[in-house]
Amino acid sequence: MTLKTLSALAAATLFLGACATPVDVSDPVPLQPEWHLAIHGGAGVILRENLTDEQEAAYVAGLNEAMAAGAAVLREGGSAVDAVQAAVLPMENNPLFNAGYGAVFAANGTHELDASIMDGRDRNAGSVAGVMHVKNPILAARAVMDKSEHVMFAGAGADAFAESQGLDMVDNTYFDTERRRKDLERLLEARSDKSVAERRTAADRFGTVGAVAIDSQGNLAAATTTGGMTAKAPGRVGDAPLVGAATYAENGVCAVSATGHGEYFIRVGVAKTICDRVKLAGESVGEAAQVALGEVASLGGDGGVIVIDGAGNVDFVFNSAGMYRGEISADGATTAIFGVE
Ligand code: ASP
Repeated sequence: MTLKTLSALAAATLFLGACATPVDVSDPVPLQPEWHLAIHGGAGVILRENLTDEQEAAYVAGLNEAMAAGAAVLREGGSAVDAVQAAVLPMENNPLFNAGYGAVFAANGTHELDASIMDGRDRNAGSVAGVMHVKNPILAARAVMDKSEHVMFAGAGADAFAESQGLDMVDNTYFDTERRRKDLERLLEARSDKSVAERRTAADRFGTVGAVAIDSQGNLAAATTTGGMTAKAPGRVGDAPLVGAATYAENGVCAVSATGHGEYFIRVGVAKTICDRVKLAGESVGEAAQVALGEVASLGGDGGVIVIDGAGNVDFVFNSAGMYRGEISADGATTAIFGVE
C-alpha cells in the first residue's frame, strides 16, 4: 500500500469517525510508507539488435546487483539517501557502466568524473565535478554533503577533499577499459569525417548511473554519477554533478536522477523543473518528466529520467531509443532496457 493510499485511508477514517465517535487527532495512526527504489544505467541508442544475449544478461545482472544493494538498506529500515548511494556504488565498480571503473575517456585520453547526491529530508546535497583520482565519486559527493559546509567541489580540490576524508584514491589509469578506449578512437576518427560527425552524440553516450528512492519513513533521495561523454573536452562538466539539473530530491514532492546529453539537461534544469511542476502545478512525476524532456527535445537534446513521488510512485521517462533501468520494492524487482518491451 502506498503512502497516498494510506493518507486517503487515514482521511476517510477521520471523516467517518467525526460522524460517529470523536477522534483524537493529536494521536494519529502512524503511517508506514512502503520503500521503493528505482535505478538507471544510462539512456541512449540502445537497440535490441546491437546487444547480444550475453551482453543483455550482463546488463540485467548489473542492474539487479545494484537494486539488491539499495534494497538491502531499505528493507532494514535504512534511509533513502543511504540506499541510493548503496545502489549506485556497484555500478561505479562495474565496467559496463559509464561511472567509476568503466568511465568514458575525455578527448585527451584521461577520465574526469562527476557525481551528486541529495537528501530530500533537508535538501542537503553534495557533489564533485571533474575528479580524476577518487575511486568512487559518489562517496566523495556524500562526503561533501556530510562532512563539509559546501555543496560542490571541483577538480584537484575535490580529489584532495576526498583523500582527506580517507576515501580510496587511484591512478587515473585505473578507470581505463579497452571498450571505452575503442569508443574514444572511433569517435575521434568520426570527428575528422564530417559526414558521420552528426550521428555521434546519442550513439556514444550512455552508461551514466543513478538512483532514486523512498524509505519506510517516507524520505526521498537521489544520486547520479558518470564519466560524462566520450571525447568531451577536458574540463567539461555535465549535468550529473549539478543539483537541479540531473539530481534533485525534496520530501513529499519528488526525487529525480537524469541521464542524457548533459548540456541540454543543464539548460532546462531538468530535475528541478520536474519537482517544481509536481509541487506547484500538481502534475504527476510522469507528466512533469514528459514536459521537462519535451523541453530538452525541443532544444535538440535527448536522454531520460527516473522519478519517484512523495507517495512512492515510480516512473521512467526517456526520449532516447532505450534506457537501462529497474525498480524494486517489497513486491519484487523488474528491469528493462529497450524502449518498447
Ligand atoms: N548526462 C551525462 C553527461 O552529460 C551523460 C549521460 O548521462 O550519458 O555528462
